Order: sequence, then structure tokens, then C-alpha cells
Amino acid sequence: MGTIVEVISPDRQAADIAFKEIKRIENLLSYYKDDSEVSRLNKQGRLRVSQEALYVINKAGEFWQATQGAFDVVVAPLMELWGFYHRDYRLPSDSEIKERLELIGFDKLEIDGSIIEFGIEGMRIDLGAIAKGFAIDCAVKKLRLAGINSALLNAGGDIYCLGNKQGIPWRVAINPAPARRGGVKAGRSPDFGGYLELEDKAVATSGDYEQFFFVNNIRYCHILNPKTGKPAESGIISVSVVAEDCLTADALATSIFVLGKERGRELAKRFNAEVRIYTEVE
Ligand code: ADP
Ligand code: MG
Repeated sequence: MGTIVEVISPDRQAADIAFKEIKRIENLLSYYKDDSEVSRLNKQGRLRVSQEALYVINKAGEFWQATQGAFDVVVAPLMELWGFYHRDYRLPSDSEIKERLELIGFDKLEIDGSIIEFGIEGMRIDLGAIAKGFAIDCAVKKLRLAGINSALLNAGGDIYCLGNKQGIPWRVAINPAPARRGGVKAGRSPDFGGYLELEDKAVATSGDYEQFFFVNNIRYCHILNPKTGKPAESGIISVSVVAEDCLTADALATSIFVLGKERGRELAKRFNAEVRIYTEVE
């Protein structure tokens, strides 16, 4: 999944159980692994998928609906056009973008039972904005089944706090713009955003500092606005979402990053999620 997974728990078995389950989900949903279901679907244009993949794709559809298309897992052809997959970043022309926009839209995906099919040749799916959260939720389920009731799982900023830490809530620091403006004051970033105290809750963060490139001092980040075909420019530099499960937190964080502060807050409210939004200051 292109990230580091961290497991903290007083239980010695926790890491093995969590890593094993996260690997299993990665093998199904990774965009980069050649033999994952996502890759096979992308190659063949039609595939009968596992229960897990079907669940995540249906959930992605719910977020597509709820965000009026701001969250869209079929953005892959655009991600590729901008060079985000192989870090060969470039500014595409308007006509190239227009061409790729024809392939965008969750409603162009045909779902028949567990068979997923692309309505247009050239479409591709990328679950990168939701799969990490799902993988964390699956791992939490396995931990609970094993009787483990205290752990913190972190997949590159998609976090679940299972139970508490020796009687006190888990503390998660928010650092909305790591190294963005350089310099570290008093041992922490000037943008240090305080702590969240969490128990049996998830938090996920989307920011423009994860993957980006600059051209003429303009920052282009890896979260795209499916309406424009260009990197989102909502004024948000980082958003953290607290929710009951990590899939919801993950998908909402990406959605809010695209929608901007006002529409983002409304969306979070509808999902009973708590948000911390950090915007650009001049
Ligand atoms: P990160 O993976 O950096 O933690 P996100 O959860 O926000 O961040 O997911 C970003 C990934 O989601 C991108 O790398 C891309 O694969 C995909 N993506 C980009 N734009 C969108 C979008 N508008 N809707 C859904 N997925 C997107
Ligand atoms: Mg996300």
C-alpha cells in the first residue's frame, strides 16, 4: 500500500495478527501489485471480485454519491496522466485532461452481483483513498477476535485506537504540515495542531504534503478534483477526520480535502464525524 504500518500494543501477538490481515487485504486491493484483484480488473476490464473488494467498491460508491462525485475511485487514468504513479510528474494539456475526464465517474462502473465491469474501455480503478482504512478495520476485527483489547494501528496516518492505553485514552498528535515551512520550533513543527484523545475510534488525515510536485512555485498534490481533472485546490492543506471506523475516516478525509472547508464540514456532520481542518494562510 506504499506506506509504513505501525502496531503498538501491550500484547505480543498483536503485530503479527495485524500485519498478516493487512497483507491479505493489500494482496486484494493494491493498485501496484500485479496479481491483486484491482490490477486484474484494471487489465481485463471485467472481474468477479471477492466479498472484501465488493464491499470496498460499494462503500466507495456511497461516498461518490454523498460527495456529488468529489470522491471517485475511478480517478486512476487522471492520476496516471499527471505522473503520480511512477513519480514522472508533468503538467498535462487541457485537451489531454478533457480526454481522460470522459473515463471518470463511478456511475460508469457496472456492478452486477460480484462482477465489476468498466462501462468504457480505458477506465481504471484505484482504491488508494479508502483501502488503507478498510485494511486497518479488518485488522482491528482480527485483534478483537483474538481477545486483544488494547492497540494502536497506524497505516501512514490512517489510525485506529483500540481500547485504551493502560486505562487512559490513546493520544494522537496532529501535525498538519510537517516540514512544510521548514524549521522546527521548540522540538516540534510550527504547525503543531495539538492532540486527540481517542478510545475505540479511528482518525485519518489527508494532506497536500504526502505526495506532490512543484512547477513555477505552484504545488500539485496527489488528491485530484474529478470535476476539473486537476489536483484539488480547496485551500485545505490538511484535514483529520475522527470516525467510528477507519474506512469512513479515510474516505471522508480525502473527500473533504477536495470539497473544501464548508462543504467538508457539512459532509462530516452527516457522517457524525469530527474534523480538524487546516487551510492555507497568506
Ligand atoms: P494518502 O494515501 O496520501 O494517505 P488519501 O487517503 O487522501 O491519502 O488518498 C489519496 C489517494 O487516493 C491518491 O493517491 C489516489 O490514488 C486516490 N485519489 C486521488 N484523488 C481522489 C479522489 N478525488 N477520490 C478518490 N480517490 C482519489
Ligand atoms: Mg483517504
